[in-house]
Amino acid sequence: MKQCNWCNNNFKPSVTYQVYCSVECRNSATKEKIVARYSITRRQKKKNKPRKCAGGCGITLSVYNDDSLCNSCKINNKDVAKVLKKIKGIVRDSKDN
Ligand SMILES: [Zn+2]
Ligand SMILES: [Zn+2]
Repeated sequence: MKQCNWCNNNFKPSVTYQVYCSVECRNSATKEKIVARYSITRRQKKKNKPRKCAGGCGITLSVYNDDSLCNSCKINNKDVAKVLKKIKGIVRDSKDN
């Protein structure tokens, strides 16, 4: 017999790694874990010191921004990629001619 990690009921596990007596218990425990993790990451984010954008623009990133770049630098990067594609296209075109 094992004791359920959630409701402390004794149960007979059908698999050795089973730690909850029922699907309901497992779901409740999973939900609580997710909520706990969510509140921890939120707390950690609030504790974070202000970070500067890695794009070199000097902008301080929002604590809710998980990226290392600010929004405008992210857009710039997209533009850069677009321009690079265009340049590659031009090079290819001229080779074909
Ligand atoms: Zn249970
Ligand atoms: Zn930036």
